[in-house]
Amino acid sequence: MAAPVMGVFDYLVPVAVEGPLLVGQRVRVPFGRGTRMGWLVGAKAVSELPEQRLRRVLSVLDAQPLMPPDLLRMLVWAARYYQHPLGEVLSAALPKALREGHALARGEPCWALSAEGRSADPGALRRAPAQLGIYLKLRASSAPVTAADLDAVSSGWRRAVAALAARGWVTVSHAAALPPVADIGPDEPPVLTADQAQAVAQINAARGFRCFLLDGVTGSGKTEVYLRCIEQVLAAGRQSLVLVPEIGLTPQLLERFQRRFPVPIALLHSGLSDGERLRAFTAASDGTAAIIIGTRSAIFAPLLRPGLIVADEEHDPSYKQQEGWRYSARDLAVWRARELGVPLVLGSATPSLESVENARSGRYTRLVLPSRTGAAGQPRVSLIDLRQHAAREGLTQPLLAAIRRHLDAGGQVLIYLNRRGYAPVLMCPACGQVLECPRCDARMVLHQQRGQLACHHCGSERPVPAQCPDCAGELKPVGQGTERLERALAAAFPDQQIERIDRDTTRRRGEIERRLNRVRREEARILMGTQMLTKGHDFPRVTLVGIIDADQGLFGSDFRSAERLAQSFVQVAGRAGRAEHPGEVYLQTLFPEHPLLRVLISKGYAQFATLALDERRQAGWPPFTCLALLRAEASERAPVSAFLQAAAALARDQAPAGLNVLGPASAPMERRAGRYRGQLLLQAASRRELQLFLPGWRAALAEVETRRRVRWSLDVDPVDLF
Ligand code: ADP
Ligand code: ZN
Repeated sequence: MAAPVMGVFDYLVPVAVEGPLLVGQRVRVPFGRGTRMGWLVGAKAVSELPEQRLRRVLSVLDAQPLMPPDLLRMLVWAARYYQHPLGEVLSAALPKALREGHALARGEPCWALSAEGRSADPGALRRAPAQLGIYLKLRASSAPVTAADLDAVSSGWRRAVAALAARGWVTVSHAAALPPVADIGPDEPPVLTADQAQAVAQINAARGFRCFLLDGVTGSGKTEVYLRCIEQVLAAGRQSLVLVPEIGLTPQLLERFQRRFPVPIALLHSGLSDGERLRAFTAASDGTAAIIIGTRSAIFAPLLRPGLIVADEEHDPSYKQQEGWRYSARDLAVWRARELGVPLVLGSATPSLESVENARSGRYTRLVLPSRTGAAGQPRVSLIDLRQHAAREGLTQPLLAAIRRHLDAGGQVLIYLNRRGYAPVLMCPACGQVLECPRCDARMVLHQQRGQLACHHCGSERPVPAQCPDCAGELKPVGQGTERLERALAAAFPDQQIERIDRDTTRRRGEIERRLNRVRREEARILMGTQMLTKGHDFPRVTLVGIIDADQGLFGSDFRSAERLAQSFVQVAGRAGRAEHPGEVYLQTLFPEHPLLRVLISKGYAQFATLALDERRQAGWPPFTCLALLRAEASERAPVSAFLQAAAALARDQAPAGLNVLGPASAPMERRAGRYRGQLLLQAASRRELQLFLPGWRAALAEVETRRRVRWSLDVDPVDLF
C-alpha cells in the first residue's frame, strides 16, 4: 500500500478465495483502524510475527495480477536498492487509477493483420473463402476492425478469424485502449549505411539480454537503427519499449514511428490524464500496444511479450527522478532488460561517462556510428576570444558576420544561450546593491517583458522596483538572457523573423510545435533559445550554430559539470549542418585555452570522455566509486547540522573500511525557498559495499532524535551533488 513506511506487512490469506492468490494482485486489508488497498508481493508459509497478531486479508480485488511478475520483482528490488518505502515505489510506478482500486481499462476487442499476414500471399486461402473474405477486409482497412465490422462480412467470421490467427496472420487487440492508429502514410526506409547495418545486425543477433551502447554523432542515424531493430521485434510478435528524455519536445519522433509502423503505439508521459495513463498501461500489459514510447516512468510499463528496450539520449539527466523516490530509469532499464532476457540499446551522441566506462570494460557492447548519413561532414568549430572581440549585447563582430554570411547563403542560424529572462542580474551601480531572492541564496532574474523579477530556484516573483531600494539610484541590468539577446538580434537583423524557444515563450500548449514549424517552413531563419533546442530536434537547414557564452559552467563545482558542459556543447553543435548542408559552430569564450574546450574542439567527445574518466578515476568519483547522498533541510540551520552530524557519526561508526563519509557540509546553495539545506556524502568502492551498508544505516537514521525537525532524503547514485 502507499504508506510511507519501510517494509512489507504479513497477513493471513482470506477465508474464502476464488482461484489462486497471485503476486501482483491487489488486496484490501485492515491497517491500523481502517482498511487500505495493498499489493500482494509474495507469499510465505511462516511469519516472524506470532499468529494471533496477524490479521486477515479482507478481499482480493483482481482475478488476475495487474502487474507481470518481472515488474513487481523490479519494484521490490528497486525499493531496496534506493532505500525507499515499497509502498511509495509502487505508487510512483503505477497509474493512479489502479491505486484507487479501478480495474484495467480494457476496450472492445478488434482485429488486424500481423506483419506476417500483411506480407502473406492470399492465394493460400483459395480453398477457405470465409477466411479469404475476412483477410481481404482486414487488408483493406488501415485501422483494426471491430466485431460489428466483421459481422457485416460474414456471420461465421469468428471461426475464420480464429483460423487466420492460428496461421499467425491476425492479431487481436483492444480498441478503446488506445487512440486509433494514425494513417499518415508509409515511410520508405532508407538503405542502411554499412555502420548502421553492422549495428542492426549485432543487436538483432542478440539472444537474450545484452546491453548495447549505440554511440553515434547527431544525425548518424541512431533512430533508424532503433526502427530496424523494432521492425524485427514486431515481426516476431513482440513489444518494444522506447524511452526518451522528453516527449513534449519530440512530437516528430512519434510521427516517425507511426509512419514506419502502422501498429498501435502507447504513449506514456507526465502530460497524460489519469484515464489516458490507465489505457496506455493496459494496452502495454495486454499486448495491444506493439510499441510503447515514453519518458522516465515508462520504464514501469508492464509488457506482455517483451522483445526490446531502447533508451534514447541515455546521458540525459532527466532519466533520473529528482524528488521522492529518486530512481534512474536508465539504470532500471538495464536491470529490467536482464530480468526479461531482452536486448537493451542505450543510444547517445554524448554517452554518459558511466556507459562509456561500461563499454570500455566490456560489460556493454559498443556500436559506433562515426559519421553522418548525409553528405555533410562534421561541422567546423571555431572559438571567438571575448578578450579580443568585445561583445555588445552578447554579440561579437565575428559572430555577427558569420550570421550574416549564413543568412545570405540561404542557411538558417541557431543561437544558443542557456539562460532565460532578460538579464541574470539587476544591480545598482551607485551603491553596488544586487537584487537577491529573499528566500534563496540566489539573484533575481529580470524578466523585462513581464515586468517581473523572478527567482529561478524557488519560483517567487515580484514587480521590478523603479529604483534601488537602498539608495534610490537607477538600477541596471547586467548580463544576457534569451529575452535580451532576442532584442539584440532583432536590432542587428531587422528584416529577419526570430523564433525564441525557452520555457517562457513555450508555456502555452502546442507553442513549441508552432515555433518549430515556422522554422521548418523557413518563415523564420534565426532560431534562438536554451537547452530546449538541444533535445533531439532535426533542423535540416541550420548551417550555423552560435554559442553565446561557452563559459557558463566551465568552472562548476560538481564533479559532473565538465561532462554536462561537454554534452550540451556537442549536442547543440550537432544541430549545425545536416543532410547536404555543411555546418559551422562558433563559441564565444573568455577562456580559449581552457583544456576542456581545447580537447572537445580538437579531439571530439570520445577523447574528452577518456580524459574525463582518467580524472574521475584519480579523484575517486563515479563510475569508479558509488555514491549515496543524504540531504536534509529545515527552516533553520541548527537542526540540519545536528541531524547530519548524528548521521555522520552513525556512518563512521558502522562503515566498513573503504567507505568514506564526506561531510556534512552545507549544500552549494545553502538557502533555497526559505529553507537551509545540508548534505552528507557516502563514497564506497563498490555498489555491493554500499548496498550492504545502507539498510542498517537507514534504519538507524529513522531513529535519530533530530530527524523530526528536518526533512531528509537519501539519494542513491545521485546525479547532482546539491
Ligand atoms: P540520429 O538519431 O542519430 O540523430 P536519425 O536516425 O534521426 O539520426 O537520422 C538522421 C537523418 O538521416 C534522418 O533524416 C534520417 O531519415 C536520415 N537517415 C538515417 N539513416 C539513413 C540512411 N541509411 N540513408 C539515408 N538517410 C538516412
Ligand atoms: Zn528564490
